[in-house]
Amino acid sequence: MTSGSAVESSLNDEAIAAAFRTYLETYFVLRNLPAALELFTESTSGFGTGADEAMFDAQSVAAVVERDMRQAPNEVRYTVTRQRVQRLSEDAGLAVAEVDLRTTISEQELRFKGLRVSVVYRRVGDEWRIEHQHTSLPTEVHGPDESYPVKELEERNAVLARLVGKRTAELHAALEEIRGLAAIDALTGTLNRFTVDERLAAELARAERHGHGFALILLDIDQFKAVNDLLGHIEGDRLLRTLARLVTERVRKSDVVGRWGGEEFVIICPETSLGNAAQLAEDIRLSVASYDFGIGRSCTISQGVTVNEAGDTVDSIFARADRAMYAAKRAGRNSVSLTPNRAPRA
Ligand code: GH3
Ligand code: MG
Ligand code: MG
Repeated sequence: MTSGSAVESSLNDEAIAAAFRTYLETYFVLRNLPAALELFTESTSGFGTGADEAMFDAQSVAAVVERDMRQAPNEVRYTVTRQRVQRLSEDAGLAVAEVDLRTTISEQELRFKGLRVSVVYRRVGDEWRIEHQHTSLPTEVHGPDESYPVKELEERNAVLARLVGKRTAELHAALEEIRGLAAIDALTGTLNRFTVDERLAAELARAERHGHGFALILLDIDQFKAVNDLLGHIEGDRLLRTLARLVTERVRKSDVVGRWGGEEFVIICPETSLGNAAQLAEDIRLSVASYDFGIGRSCTISQGVTVNEAGDTVDSIFARADRAMYAAKRAGRNSVSLTPNRAPRA
């Protein structure tokens, strides 16, 4: 090859190189669909990186170009790391290159490293058009900072979204369980004092708004200290659990049973008159007194019963139930005492 023809050949290669630069600029930087489609011949074909990107006619090439631009709507910065351009004949040329790409999709910085591009050019009039293009990505395992192609990324996103959804549901369930546990007294399984307070406040608010009446029963085990002293705390605990079960079995579904303190329980009875609550307390008293707790003697309880009054607070209604309960103790224990001593309002 003479030096003259070498110059000639490099000049000719330059036309292919220029066409290839235009292709990269239009496709990646300008993101101009009509301009990009102008670059192809009418008989063009191609293979893309996606599994479904085998294009045997200009129409399917156009569809893929359109989708590429839609999926990567922002500018794609590209760096050609290696390139070779060849003039093959009068009206045919070839450009092969390795290109690194960076772009932002959905606020995610994406990188495609080492995209392989080969473009076969055909001269149409005095322009070089793309007769065939083939892009591929190395199939080696992606590094932790390398992005997957967009479609894979979308698939991964869908999988992640499903996983996140599942995890969120699990977390919600766990949270519900924790909320439930936080509301419950660990020893007896009845509501704890905090939750009883909440329920009582809610019941008072409801009464205030709608004029509903409700009853409150405060229940205290008689001489419980003696049970602990004689049989030990473990037996004492067991008795507390059994008593909680007896009470819970006895009340209505709408009634609320909670542990107020050591050996004291409360029962909130919505829509219940003083008389009906006193009857319930009496039923409970009898079933506890006659129950065999397996401690070699009977166990009795004293109860104070009250109903809500206008202007009541959690403290005021409790103080009244407490006074009634102590009246029951003073009356000799194993008894029920009511306050106020008047006709119920519910
Ligand atoms: P009264 O008839 O006057 O109510 O006598 P009492 O002995 O029941 O009353 P007191 O308040 O003097 O004693 C309550 C006892 O309850 C004291 C404490 O040791 C016991 N206690 C409180 N909480 C628990 C608990 O969680 N487990 C056990 N085993 N005992 C408890
Ligand atoms: Mg007590
Ligand atoms: Mg007691």
